[in-house]
Amino acid sequence: MNRRLTLALPSKGRLREPSWSLLEASGVSPQEPGERVLQAHCRNADIDLLFVRADDVPEYVQDGVVDCGITGLDLIHERGCDVEVLLRLGYGTCSLQAAVSMEDTATGIEDLEGRRIATSHPNIAAKVLADRGINAEIVRVAGSVEISPRLGLADAIIDLVSTGSTLRTNGLRSIGVLFESEAVLVGRVGSTDHEARRILTMVLGSVVNARANRYLLCNVAKDRLADVTALLPTSGSPTVMDLATPGVVAVHALVPAAEIWSLLPKLEAAGAYSILTLPVERMVP
Ligand code: AMP
Repeated sequence: MNRRLTLALPSKGRLREPSWSLLEASGVSPQEPGERVLQAHCRNADIDLLFVRADDVPEYVQDGVVDCGITGLDLIHERGCDVEVLLRLGYGTCSLQAAVSMEDTATGIEDLEGRRIATSHPNIAAKVLADRGINAEIVRVAGSVEISPRLGLADAIIDLVSTGSTLRTNGLRSIGVLFESEAVLVGRVGSTDHEARRILTMVLGSVVNARANRYLLCNVAKDRLADVTALLPTSGSPTVMDLATPGVVAVHALVPAAEIWSLLPKLEAAGAYSILTLPVERMVP
């Protein structure tokens, strides 16, 4: 009999809801926990869930307390944990950026030489600055990093940014990116023989892949088919089917969701019509 897999999930914060919704979308169907529940079983998979803080997940996985976990890539690097990234999950995307006040003359990360920088990511900050040969004083703060320059605690900050609106609200301007992060599924280094872990990675991956794509259908006259298929940003071959109307075909293809916006007007101009795009639930290559 297979041993049950233990999976650590963020119990609160930004990564909680999207991690939960990814599990639901993947059909793992966990029993809904209450706010204070720390453990849950999955009804239709040999998986036990453990709800912990996102920043504790890297250590729990590294030390074998759990088999796998979902956390931010930044937290793994900040904690210096040795874990295997099994899958990038496509949410929780943000970057660790250096920022200064609007009036500051700094234009790039190299301008941080000799300055005081507040951050709650001191380890990543110190490593990136050292790699670039920049000497700066790091001031470790636990939260509200953006307020540090105004308080006179530091001349600059290094903090996680997703939209940049918090920086702007606090009168700060980015001068460069040090690290790109997103939510990831991680497992213990070297434990490759766990069948449930392989299946979990494959099933979550099928949803992550599917979310990034759309199924596109359109009709086109046969004499314009080549123009339409030449536009499709699809890796595989599109499906082309005859319609009941002579001389017209239907084209079906999987296309990256991010390209739909620019693709639709081009397809229309090339003679495609009755264009539909549909969400995809799963994609196993
Ligand atoms: P939490 O502090 O529990 O809300 O989780 C923070 C984690 O969410 C970070 O370590 C990042 O991996 C991720 N994240 C995504 N966007 C942001 C953002 N704008 N600011 C901070 N963390 C973010």
